[in-house]
Amino acid sequence: MTIDELRLLDVLQDRIINLKLHIANGNPALKKPLLLLLILSRLEHSHSPTNEFPYAALEEPLASLIERFGGRPVTHGPKPEQPYYHLDQTLWAVHNLPADLQVSRARTPSAKQCRTTWASLPEDFFRLLASSTEARHRLADVILDNWWPDTLHDDIRARLGLEASRRELFAARATRSRDFVEAVLTNYDHRCALCGFNARFRGSGFGVDAAHIRWHAHRGPDRLENGVALCKLHHWGLDSGVLTIRMDHTIQISPQLSTHDVHSRRLFTELQGSRLLSPRSRPPHHDFLNWHHVFVFRGDIFSSSAAP
Ligand SMILES: [Zn+2]
Repeated sequence: MTIDELRLLDVLQDRIINLKLHIANGNPALKKPLLLLLILSRLEHSHSPTNEFPYAALEEPLASLIERFGGRPVTHGPKPEQPYYHLDQTLWAVHNLPADLQVSRARTPSAKQCRTTWASLPEDFFRLLASSTEARHRLADVILDNWWPDTLHDDIRARLGLEASRRELFAARATRSRDFVEAVLTNYDHRCALCGFNARFRGSGFGVDAAHIRWHAHRGPDRLENGVALCKLHHWGLDSGVLTIRMDHTIQISPQLSTHDVHSRRLFTELQGSRLLSPRSRPPHHDFLNWHHVFVFRGDIFSSSAAP
C-alpha cells in the first residue's frame, strides 16, 4: 500500500474502533461490526463491483451472521435493518428511502421499507477497500480483535471467506498477558477444568488454554477470577456459547447442541451438571460468569427463524 493508502486506512480503522454500538442490557450489540465484516467479504469476492450495497442482498447473510456471532440477547429476531440503517453517517449512506423517513434518524425503517434501498461507502474508502486485499485483511483483523475472542476468529473468517493477515495476528497475540496465562494454568494444575485433559508433549504442556470468561475484547480483565483453564475443544465451546459455567460452578450445556455418538456425548452432553475442577486459589467470579451467561451462552431452544 502507498503512504496515502496507509493514512486512509488509519482514519478508517479509527472510525471503526470508535463506532458507537447499540447497548442492550449493558452489552454492546455486535451487529454493526458484523455488517462491516460482511461488506469486506462482499468486496473480497467481488459481489459489489460498484459502490452500491442493496439491502436486499445483505439482509439474509447479515441476519444469519447476527444469529451465529452477534452475542446475546437477540430478542425479536436478528433485525439486520438496524445496523444497516444506523451504521454510522461518516461511513455509510443509505439511499432511496421512502421520503417521509428521511427526516428522522431516530426511527428504524422496517425490513420491508429497507428492501427498496441501497447504501454506499464514502468514495475514497470504497476505492481503497475494493482495490487493496491487504487493506481488507488488516481491517478484518482489527474488527475481529476488537470485538471477538481469538477462538472465534477462524469460524467467522471461514463463514465470510476472509483470510487473516498473519502479521497483524501475531502482533495482537503477543500483547496478551503472559502472566495471566501462567497464573490461570497454574490455578488449575494445567488441566482442563471441564474434562480434566492434561498432557505434555516433548516436555511442555500442550492443548490447554487460559480462557477469559468475559471476553478480553469486551473489557474482560486479565484476572484470575476471569480465567479458567480449558482444553482447545472446551475453550471453543465456552466462547461459542455451547456451554457455560453456572454460579454454583456446575456446567450447563446448550439445548441447541445435538450429539450423535458416544464420544461426543462424553465430551459435551454428559458434562451437564458436573462441577468445574476446583482451582488452587480464586475461583471464577460471579460477575464474569453472569456476563457469559447473558451475552454468550445459547441457553434458548434453537429457532431457525431468520429475518422478521
Ligand atoms: Zn476439556
